Amino acid sequence: MSIQKAIESLKPQFRGQILLPSDKDYEEVRKVYNGMIDKRPGAIARCVDIADVIAAVRVARENELLTAIRGGGHNAGGLGICDGGLVVDLSRMRSVWVDPSTKTVRAEGGCTGSDLDHATHAFGMATPTGTIATTGVAGLTLGGGIGHLSRRYGLTIDNLLGVDMVLADGTYVTADDKQNSDLFWAVRGGGGNFGVVTSFHFRLQPVNVVHAGPTFWSLDQTPLVMKAYREFILQAPEDVSGFFAFLTVPPVPLFPENLHGKKMCAIIWCCTAAPERADQVTKAMRSVGKPALDAVGQMPFPALQSLFDGLYPPGLQWYWRADFFKEISDASIDAHLQNAEKLPTGHSTMHLYPIDGAVHRVGNKDTAFSYRDANWAGVIVGVDPNPSNKEKITNWTKAYFDALHPHSSGGAYVNFMMDEGQDRVRASFRDNYDRLASIKKKYDPTNFFRVNQNIKPA
Ligand SMILES: Cc1cc2nc3c(=O)[nH]c(=O)nc-3n(C[C@H](O)[C@H](O)[C@H](O)COP(=O)(O)OP(=O)(O)OC[C@H]3O[C@@H](n4cnc5c(N)ncnc54)[C@H](O)[C@@H]3O)c2cc1C
Repeated sequence: MSIQKAIESLKPQFRGQILLPSDKDYEEVRKVYNGMIDKRPGAIARCVDIADVIAAVRVARENELLTAIRGGGHNAGGLGICDGGLVVDLSRMRSVWVDPSTKTVRAEGGCTGSDLDHATHAFGMATPTGTIATTGVAGLTLGGGIGHLSRRYGLTIDNLLGVDMVLADGTYVTADDKQNSDLFWAVRGGGGNFGVVTSFHFRLQPVNVVHAGPTFWSLDQTPLVMKAYREFILQAPEDVSGFFAFLTVPPVPLFPENLHGKKMCAIIWCCTAAPERADQVTKAMRSVGKPALDAVGQMPFPALQSLFDGLYPPGLQWYWRADFFKEISDASIDAHLQNAEKLPTGHSTMHLYPIDGAVHRVGNKDTAFSYRDANWAGVIVGVDPNPSNKEKITNWTKAYFDALHPHSSGGAYVNFMMDEGQDRVRASFRDNYDRLASIKKKYDPTNFFRVNQNIKPA
């Protein structure tokens, strides 16, 4: 059956909006965050409730349509959209319910980090998510969820109490510690392989105002700063965190004019400790060498979460590569510096997110996320607004990755990867891959959900 006929059969069961390539809004709605992705689905089903999701999945399955699930549309490789098939789009399902009495929150499958932070901050609490608030909670959580609060409160999945989801056969289930616990294990790191999550149930943590901001150093101080950082952060108390970055100082009033356009190494701090203690504990690191800027202060947690949103609006070209790291060796520091000196554009950057502390208190086999023994999740991104610089940012990212990969743990965080083939997916899940493949066979034997970092049914 053609996709048009399939869509005709979906319409009577569907409350939201179904967009076809001939529709006015189609061109705008098919865009995803990464401007490098240019896919043209046969139809986009913009769901407004669970019944819509069930209907869309059933019709897609009966008609054997290639099906993508879209949460926040931020995926690096554009895995929230597909060419020719159906997109089950949850971006209109963004409600959040906080329950202060149980210190938990329910978030619908299309929420962004900003939706979640806004709702929970009103109660002086937060669930750990990522570092850019426009990112979708769904994709981020299903891959693991790494961010400012990881050292203190673990990955996003370590705060996940359960999910409600629509499976490939159209049934609706809850997965948590008590019901479908194998599925609950798999969705904590296994990505969008197992069904469409319509809502997430998270534990909340007492996070309100944080002591945060950047310290910048000139690039030539990189060896000094990186060597001090690798020692500092692994012994720092868990209420202190900071990720390491290479960046070009953006020409915005937030930063002194004399630094605009300068390539720098940096630590972006986020401390949940009381201000005096945070200041005192981080002071030694913030005083290493000669910092060019030290702009750490008090801010509401959502302000930190959305600090970079304006610098990285949707539609830029992004090329990604990533790896986990157990250590920052002297040899890797040489590779870092050589490639940081060649940062190809103002938006391009490299981040090393610390994932020790609370993340290490969960075992590699306790959830599908298999790199708890790593100390950092690294990501290299070539980014630029201009599509004609696509090759430039791609080549830089690949060369940097090639130089650094020999010093890594071998696999990458799935959410920092593009579409890089099956070997890289296996390297990400390591010893957990076979168990994931068995669970995939049980819940999605035909690999209906395959627009993702795909786990093949065993
Ligand atoms: C600028 C930027 C900053 C980022 N920062 C961080 C960070 O700090 N920490 C971090 O951990 N990650 C970060 N990421 C990576 C991010 O976690 C992934 O890109 C993630 O896939 C985004 O989720 P999404 O819902 O926006 O993506 P989408 O493109 O909508 O979907 C991505 C994948 O998730 C699946 N999916 C989406 N929604 C659902 C759903 N409701 N049910 C089932 N499957 C679903 C899709 O099938 C697809 O495979 C960042 C990404 C960007 C672009």
